[in-house]
Amino acid sequence: MASHTALLIIDYTNDFVADKGALSCGITGQKLAPRIIELANEFVSNGDWVILPTDVHTPNDPYHPETKLFPSHNVRGTWGREFYGDVAKWYDQNKNQDKVYMYDKTRYSAFAGTDLDIRMRERHVDTLHLVGVCTDICVLHTAVDAYNLNYNLVIHEKGVAALSSAGQTWALDHFKHVLGASVID
Ligand code: ZN
Repeated sequence: MASHTALLIIDYTNDFVADKGALSCGITGQKLAPRIIELANEFVSNGDWVILPTDVHTPNDPYHPETKLFPSHNVRGTWGREFYGDVAKWYDQNKNQDKVYMYDKTRYSAFAGTDLDIRMRERHVDTLHLVGVCTDICVLHTAVDAYNLNYNLVIHEKGVAALSSAGQTWALDHFKHVLGASVID
């Protein structure tokens, strides 16, 4: 069976992107939408996978390490956990396609405690393209796990944003020089 490719759209929700989001990248995150949608359409029309690993929390979870670190965010069933802007529209229009898959994650990495790796292996996916937020948090931790699991990695520079420009610059350099990723527009 030929090898396949998947696009991972990480955490592109109101809480991480919208002006009133609890933990928002703001305008730098909002600007990603057209590129993310362009890529998603490209992947769907090529018969490739579009996966949306999406953070989910319960408020004040005493067992979760993020409770001490960040304001409450991406609580199930809230506006904050809905996809942002035109990406929300794209998801609504495409969610019933066979190769579009949204799932819950509870940690930074899209692999932590999820079935992503086994799903990708079953489907002979060996190359992951990453977009979404935040570049130096959830995108980074997903990329580190993907590296350790021997996936080929492509990071779309115009598809990722961070809370700070220092974080963005550092993470892009790390993808390239430490995780062996292709960093492209
Ligand atoms: Zn979180």
